[in-house]
Amino acid sequence: MKTANTLPTTLQEAVSYFSEPDYTFDFAVAMRWPNGKIECPRCGSEENSFLSTRRIWYCKGCKKQFTVKVGTIFEDSPLGMDKWMIAVWLIVTCKNGISSYEVAKGIGITQKSAWHMMHRIRKAMQDGSFKKMRGEVEADETFIGGKARNMHPEKRKRRITGRGTVDKTIVMGVLERGGEIRTAVVDNRRKKTLQAEIKKHVQAGAALYTDELKSYSGLAKEYAHEVINHAVSYVEDRVHTNGMENFWSLLKRGIGGTYVSVEPFHLFRYLDEQAFRFNNRKATDLERFMLAMENVWGKRVTWSELTGKDARQETSIN
Ligand SMILES: [Zn+2]
Repeated sequence: MKTANTLPTTLQEAVSYFSEPDYTFDFAVAMRWPNGKIECPRCGSEENSFLSTRRIWYCKGCKKQFTVKVGTIFEDSPLGMDKWMIAVWLIVTCKNGISSYEVAKGIGITQKSAWHMMHRIRKAMQDGSFKKMRGEVEADETFIGGKARNMHPEKRKRRITGRGTVDKTIVMGVLERGGEIRTAVVDNRRKKTLQAEIKKHVQAGAALYTDELKSYSGLAKEYAHEVINHAVSYVEDRVHTNGMENFWSLLKRGIGGTYVSVEPFHLFRYLDEQAFRFNNRKATDLERFMLAMENVWGKRVTWSELTGKDARQETSIN
């Protein structure tokens, strides 16, 4: 028999679990206020009365009502919590990305709603880890996109066109073997840009492998830097960026196959999604779901962040 204590481990169980409004509500409350103290999201007061029939609290501090959704990515969404939970489950458990079309079909909402929902969830999947990598690290960059020629000229203009790489977006990645990956959209492939990304994520003294791109030269001062020699390749050779290359091909398969089109200013969210799955590849579906949920409850994405201006700023911060 199903009880609220047994969290779902499969999609089927998740659908069944979150179709119970009481389970979903209790789950949400436990995620939102893990220590059990119901705190007003507006004023921080813990003095409140709970209106169980409407599942809202009345805050005695600021004299206003609040729900479990206030101040989270779920706030202002007309979609039920059950649909949100299943959408998160689908996104964090799919192997290689899922389109807004599939999510829309799967939970019975419009594609536009699904798209909006998925971007909010991706925001929650951003990696908050800033621990520097110190083992064996691969760094590499790649170009994404190139379909802008099929676009309306106005739309094309909006595309970020990096120097000499019209219609393409450059993505930089740093991967610690057996560990995590960090990615970022970068403006160019100049030395300063790429090396700044490496220094941001990799501890001095670590073993660093890159290809022969000139922008990587000079890193030997800080790292045990070795450059791939394509002329010599032994199976035992540790000097390669195969891990990064595998990640790029997964990413591109995801973008090409399941995401209809990715505007450059949205690309970093897809990167976050792919990196989240990669970094938590050893976790179970439930563990990945819970990890995403922990972030979901603390973050909020506004419409302007989703649709452009602010997202670009975030990209450069990333
Ligand atoms: Zn209050």
